[in-house]
Order: sequence, then structure tokens, then C-alpha cells
Amino acid sequence: MTPYWLDGASALAPPLTADETADVLVIGAGLCGASAALSLARAGVDTAWVDAGAVAHGASGRNAGFLLQGTAERYVRAIAIHGREGARRVHALSRENHVRMAEEVERLGLACGYQRRGSLQLAGSVEEEADLLESATLLREDGFLADERGVDALGEALAGAGFRFGVHLPEDGELQPAAFVRGVAEAAVALGVRLYERTPVTTLHADSPGDVRAETPGGTIRAQIALVCTNAAAGALLGGLAGTIDPVRGQMLATAPAPPLFDCPIYADHGFDYWRQDEHGRIALGGWRNLDPEGEVGPQEALHPLIQARMTEFLHRFEALRSVPITHRWSGTMGFSRDGLPLVGAVPGAPGALVAAGFTGHGFGFAWVCGHALADIVLHGRSDAADLFPARRFRA
Ligand SMILES: Cc1cc2nc3c(=O)[nH]c(=O)nc-3n(C[C@H](O)[C@H](O)[C@H](O)COP(=O)(O)OP(=O)(O)OC[C@H]3O[C@@H](n4cnc5c(N)ncnc54)[C@H](O)[C@@H]3O)c2cc1C
Repeated sequence: MTPYWLDGASALAPPLTADETADVLVIGAGLCGASAALSLARAGVDTAWVDAGAVAHGASGRNAGFLLQGTAERYVRAIAIHGREGARRVHALSRENHVRMAEEVERLGLACGYQRRGSLQLAGSVEEEADLLESATLLREDGFLADERGVDALGEALAGAGFRFGVHLPEDGELQPAAFVRGVAEAAVALGVRLYERTPVTTLHADSPGDVRAETPGGTIRAQIALVCTNAAAGALLGGLAGTIDPVRGQMLATAPAPPLFDCPIYADHGFDYWRQDEHGRIALGGWRNLDPEGEVGPQEALHPLIQARMTEFLHRFEALRSVPITHRWSGTMGFSRDGLPLVGAVPGAPGALVAAGFTGHGFGFAWVCGHALADIVLHGRSDAADLFPARRFRA
């Protein structure tokens, strides 16, 4: 069940064993918490940071490592849900998220296999092809890049597996997700953030701003404000968010190094199936959740035998992969919000806390700017991302 990205990853910090005081407490050490912690550290804020498990051992170290624009919905559907201007702003923010992560790779010198080769959305039916074509036209009209690719431009492997049409989004990218987050965590610690792994917050008292208490098995942490970056688990600490974010499982596998077949991250079946070949030639493949949508709801990481079997069958549609061993299988938990957008900023009923969560399967498109947004609110009182994704919007 260990993700390929976390093979051999050692602990970065000890658990908390005594009471602690800080100006800001960051809870959760995935991409979002890492972004908030680094941003606070650079501003010289006295920060404690905890994770129930270890850095990047949640969804941030269990995903496919795609850096995609937009939400999990194709653009035509995103417009239907959020309106033309809303969809455009969300899309633009995710593009900015990618640019800022790429700048951080450069700034920190992170060895995380970052590449910007674009992504490819494949059609599996005539209807999906029409959907992709319409989305591509709308994306171009709104100032984004999208190129249609007929069967001849898809390459031998994809054509041989039966695909006939795709749309390439040249601005997308990919990276080794756990290496990125762990590198950021090390940078934050080097700047003075006090990180504690294996330190679950069991209760968060955030009803008085300036006097927040987080109880953990090893001690109580007092802070002026808590930044809750626990994604799928946010409702467990913040009653005002209960029922607004659902834990949804995703299945993944990785192979041994294979001959070069795919030159960028690929999405098929309306985004349900996805795979890419990393810089070592390994194929990371995931999805097929639509085979059992109800069975894949819940916070436990568990392999789904039917879905994993279908993923293997799909891999074997590519002749060159039939003899390549599968070396890793794992699952991870995503936080799905009711409208597919993150929740960022002030929390109903908890004036001592801010949240950034509910990334709905596309956290590497949003969580970096959203973590920074929380730090911006602490430092400057506001942020654009919190204005776009107010966490209070589901309050009755
Ligand atoms: C299989 C799979 C594939 C995916 N593929 C992609 C992809 O290719 N591209 C993309 O953009 N997104 C993808 N995602 C989604 C993406 O991984 C997430 O949206 C993103 O990682 C969320 O980051 P986060 O920091 O908010 O949450 P997480 O990484 O889940 O971090 C939350 C952390 O909070 C900690 N925590 C929870 N409760 C507590 C508590 N009470 N006390 C202390 N700590 C606590 C957890 O231990 C965890 O480490 C995928 C997800 C999965 C599962």
C-alpha cells in the first residue's frame, strides 16, 4: 500500500511530547499545509505545524502528480456550473497555481521530476469528443491554450489502444508530488517552523480568536489562530464544515520502468482514468472510480480489488506493457466539496480558525495558492483565493 512516490521516505520530524505555544498553528502536512507553513516561515511568523501521520502521507503523496488547469470538470461543464466568468477565474487561478509551484521548484532547487509537457484529454466516445471540442473552443476564447489532436497525432500506442481523438493542453505539467511537498517542508523547517509528525489534533478549540487550543496525544498547542489544512478530514475538527466535504477514495498503481510510450499526463473517460510516464519510465496509473462510486466513499485507505483488476486490464491493452511488472498499488483519500471548488478562509462557528480544503481531486491545481491564501489572511487580512472560494458559502 506504500505509494511509489513514498518508497523509502524517512520521517522528517518527531511527534509532539510536551505542551507548545506558537503564534500560528498549521494542521495538516500535505501540499496545502506545506504552502501555508513555508509562506509563514518566510514572513518570520512563529509557527508550529502538525500532522496526524507524516508529511505528504495523505493525498499529497498518493496522487498522480498531474499539474492541471481547472477543476475536475471539463470546461464546458465548469461554465454550466460556475458561469462563464466564474469558470474563467477559477481556471486562471489554477494556471497561476502551476506557475507559482514551478517557481518554487526553481527557487528551492527541488529534485521532484517537474516537467511542463502539457496534458492530453482523450475521447472515448463521439459524445465525449464533442464535449472536448466544445471545451477546447471555449478555453481558447477565454485566453487559454488547447489544441485538438486527431488519431495520427496521438501516437502509435494510443491509436493502437483504440483512441481516436484528444485535446492537448500545453500549459499543464507534472511532478513527483511527495518529493515536492517534502522538499517544501524541509525548507519551512530550515526557516524555523516547528514540525511534529505522528501528532493528530484530537480536538480543536477555536471559538475565541487569539486563544486557540489544539489537543493532541502528546500535549496541547496554544496559538492565536489555527490554519486547518486537513482536506477530507476538515469537518472532523470544524463542526461548521461538517457534511460539506466528502472523503472519496482513489486507486493507483505504478509499474517498473517501461519503454517510452506516453509523452505527457493523459486523462480519459471524462477524467475518471488517468496515467503518465515519469522521468524514470515508470507508469503511474489511477482512476476507474466510476466502477463503484458508492464503494469508494470513506476515509480509509484500502485497495479496491475490482478497480485494481480493471486498471491492470487497461494497462495490458498496450502490448509493450504486458510484460512490465506492476510494482506498487495504493489508494488515497480526496476531499470532495459540494460544488467541486475548494473552501478557503473564515470558518462558520470557529473565529479562531481558517480553512483551505475540499480540493475535489484537483488539489495540485489549487492547494498551493490556497495555502498561501491562508498565510495572506494572517499577514494582510485578506486574499483573492478566499474571495473566490469562501468557506462560508454552504452555510444555511
Ligand atoms: C489517487 C489520487 C490521485 C490524485 N491525482 C491528482 C492529480 O494528479 N492532480 C491533482 O491536482 N490532484 C490529484 N489528487 C488530489 C490531490 O492529491 C489532493 O487534492 C491534494 O493532495 C490535497 O492536498 P491537501 O494538503 O489539502 O490534503 P492532504 O494531502 O490529504 O493532507 C492533509 C493532511 O492532514 C492530515 N490530517 C488530517 N486530520 C488531521 C488531524 N486531526 N490532525 C493532524 N493532521 C491531520 C493528514 O494526515 C494529511 O497528511 C489525487 C488524489 C488521489 C487520492
